[in-house]
Amino acid sequence: MPDPMLLGLLVAAIAIGWWLGRLDVKHHRQHRDSSSSPALTRNYFVGLNYLLNEQPDQAIETFVQTLEVNSETIDTHIALGNLFRLRGETDRAVKIHQNLLARPSLTEAQSSHVQLELARDFLKLGLLDRAERLLIRLIRSAHDDDIRRSGKRLLIDLFEREKEWQKALDIAQPQLIRHDQNIRRAAAHWLCELAEEDIANGSVSLARKRLRQALNIDEKCVRTNWLFARMEHHTGQYRNEIRILKRIREQDADFTPITLGPISTAYQMLDDEQGLIEFLQEQIDHAPYISSVLMLAEHLRTREGINSAIDLVSSHLQHYPSLRGVDYLTDLYLKETVTRPHDHDRIELLKRHTSQLLDKRPRHRCERCGFTASQLYWHCPQCRSWGMVKPITGLEGE
Ligand SMILES: [Zn+2]
Repeated sequence: MPDPMLLGLLVAAIAIGWWLGRLDVKHHRQHRDSSSSPALTRNYFVGLNYLLNEQPDQAIETFVQTLEVNSETIDTHIALGNLFRLRGETDRAVKIHQNLLARPSLTEAQSSHVQLELARDFLKLGLLDRAERLLIRLIRSAHDDDIRRSGKRLLIDLFEREKEWQKALDIAQPQLIRHDQNIRRAAAHWLCELAEEDIANGSVSLARKRLRQALNIDEKCVRTNWLFARMEHHTGQYRNEIRILKRIREQDADFTPITLGPISTAYQMLDDEQGLIEFLQEQIDHAPYISSVLMLAEHLRTREGINSAIDLVSSHLQHYPSLRGVDYLTDLYLKETVTRPHDHDRIELLKRHTSQLLDKRPRHRCERCGFTASQLYWHCPQCRSWGMVKPITGLEGE
């Protein structure tokens, strides 16, 4: 059993114990005799015993049976329902939460709280229609701001799963975008998603409008400039493409590596090798990513010969160790030793090792949850944050 689960059950057990204690006091006050020890208390200790013996299923079952639903125990019932959901027994969580909702004695705040948890159950079960209906009704009717905000966040989560970007925006605007940094970052990406759909449908001006809107919401959203640049590329405006891609490193320097390939291609389309070399030199002075060093080395190799490329990469590696740099150097040594079979074989063995090491290395990592992948994701598939998967830097990356 995971620790949070055990902790939750212990908290529930303590809450039940506290409630039973109060019940006992009332019982004594009302009846002034202690002869009839309530069955409830006995059940409580049976449940606690199950819990201490790490038999959580029996413990939960006993607690649910022990506890009558009233205004003092409602939170404990909600917590027990949540524990079932946490354990993956979401059908049982639904039963508990629906059973609570059927009680006429619930206050408005309690009813809202239960509805929120029931919506979470439906989301977990993938019953998105039911969750959506419940949440829309709750957001309209709840008087408590916290409940409405929590309801909106769940609804946004649901619309993201359905890729209903406009609906997510409608819910988030204006308060959540203004006050919640994560939602602000997400909203800029929803607009980028819509812009990508527009581009695919040939509505380029609408896409531009949405991207400007996204930048207004989050000026750090590099994806906006990434898409602006792609549009320039498709119409052959390579100078504009380069200019826009260079803005990305000002927005968020961590994303610079993703721009190096497209900038290099754009210079090649312009047949401007000198421009590319100057850019790469300036980029290395600015932030010495290995990709730019290797691109520059390749140009030096074709222009000045293999030794210039070896010198550049070797001196870079002295200050910034890099597996990709070593792999590239090994390639150069292989070319250099082609007439010396003995040396060539040894270097080929080394090359096999560096290649194997590189093959196993992901190129991108989510800053929030640590998810890694070879490709770049704007939306982390694991923790579902936006714009947090970034190129890996350092010894094994850029
Ligand atoms: Zn993540």
